Amino acid sequence: MSLNGKVAIVTGSTSGIGLAIAQAFAAEGCNVMLNGFGEATAIAKLREELAKTCRVKVEYHGADMSKPAEIVDLVAQAKAKLGSVDIVVNNAGIQFVSPIEKFPVDKWDAIIAINLSSSFHMIRAALPLMKAAKWGRIINIASTHGLVASADKVAYVAAKHGILGLTKTVALECANSGVTCNAICPGWVLTPLVEAQIEARAKEQKISVEQASNALLSEKQPQLQFTKPEQIAGLAVFLASDTASNMQGSQLVSDGGWTAQ
Ligand code: NAD
Repeated sequence: MSLNGKVAIVTGSTSGIGLAIAQAFAAEGCNVMLNGFGEATAIAKLREELAKTCRVKVEYHGADMSKPAEIVDLVAQAKAKLGSVDIVVNNAGIQFVSPIEKFPVDKWDAIIAINLSSSFHMIRAALPLMKAAKWGRIINIASTHGLVASADKVAYVAAKHGILGLTKTVALECANSGVTCNAICPGWVLTPLVEAQIEARAKEQKISVEQASNALLSEKQPQLQFTKPEQIAGLAVFLASDTASNMQGSQLVSDGGWTAQ
């Protein structure tokens, strides 16, 4: 079955992995609801170009993923403007790096809200529509940090481990409903979220950005290459396809060997 005409909500799709996922679903003929922060003119341009290139409908909702009522409204607007909610990609995420003793409480709260609780609110609102249609795909963007930890990332690691638990629970609740719920666990992907960490490392260790980038990779990923956002997008499209219809509660890992060690 083709994805043509399906409606996909992709959170955090104004940048990085989410943007690549939104582009990939649009290329498959899906109508897309974009979400995320950014300049209004840049977002309007993105909407227009994506709609024109892929000949699909593209809407935007600026819901802040830390605000449950705005997430509920995003789902309602997708249904009202695009006709259904068939695919949800919970992708929006932020990072903050600090030892736990100094980890700001507001950063903990924000990461848990945006990287974990937003998926609960999104699925809670969208699943009844998917179950009624007897078809749906929920794809949660987790991380290698859903499987293993790194020092100084307590909130992010806790949230991403939580996402995998949420994925498995929803998968069990969806079994035999036509809806699947799965996760993707990327290793390092070169996006603004990671570029900020590379720049911070370069500054702290007084080394070049290139040296910091190589150090970041060699510390974790035996295959010394970043996964490309488009490669994660390809996995998301695969999870939405018929080939993956019997995948339920699983995690697809693309991490250059990070978690094979
Ligand atoms: P990014 O910074 O490029 O993009 C993040 C997106 O989330 C942006 O569109 C941003 O506007 C949006 N966003 C942030 N806070 C938001 C909020 N409160 N409400 C709505 N939107 C918000 O980051 P990315 O690297 O593309 O990350 C996307 C996802 O992939 C995240 O969940 C991240 O944890 C995960 N991930 C990234 C990597 C990596 O190496 N880049 C690895 C594993 C997992």
